[in-house]
Amino acid sequence: MKTAHLIACHECDLIHQLGAVPPGGSARCVRCGAALYRPKRDSINRTLALTLAGLILYIIANTFPFLAFKIGSQIRETTLTTGIFQLYQQGMGPIATLVLLTVVVVPAVHLVSMLYILVPLQSNRMPRYLARVFRMIILLKPWGMLEVFLLGILVSVVKLAKMATIVPGISLFAFLILIFVQAAMTVTLDSHLIWQHIDDHR
Ligand SMILES: [Zn+2]
Repeated sequence: MKTAHLIACHECDLIHQLGAVPPGGSARCVRCGAALYRPKRDSINRTLALTLAGLILYIIANTFPFLAFKIGSQIRETTLTTGIFQLYQQGMGPIATLVLLTVVVVPAVHLVSMLYILVPLQSNRMPRYLARVFRMIILLKPWGMLEVFLLGILVSVVKLAKMATIVPGISLFAFLILIFVQAAMTVTLDSHLIWQHIDDHR
């Protein structure tokens, strides 16, 4: 049995029964005029393209050198993985675990879950655990902290700059672009559309 698509106004909490909104159009609250819902153009395709770009960037970010330190004639390269391992070895286990979770694990789970949702939807098939996976994506979101991590790196680079020449690696640039790609994914993903799919297939 189909349920009506109910939506609450973010401003005044009035509940509306939402009909089909044409592309480019928008639904407004009948009481206060606030925007209720504006369908995003080509949401599934665009978000899928960004997710694929994000995966490629993620792989580059995790395999290529992150930073290179040059002291005198010595050059030391670090990748993210070796960096995390070094944190462990220096007795900073909790920090290493935190970096591993927020910079490596969560972004990977996020990107793979997005693929799990978007690939079938793109060809009009229904992913089996759509509701569960989408809820997990929303729950995980605050735990992906690439921006915080990069800010931390930037601060330490500035501090270390006096002691050594620091050469940013490809991985660092991949991380930077990945942050923008993830932000763009948030913009293009029409979560209302996803919930609607979940609703229609119950
Ligand atoms: Zn309202």
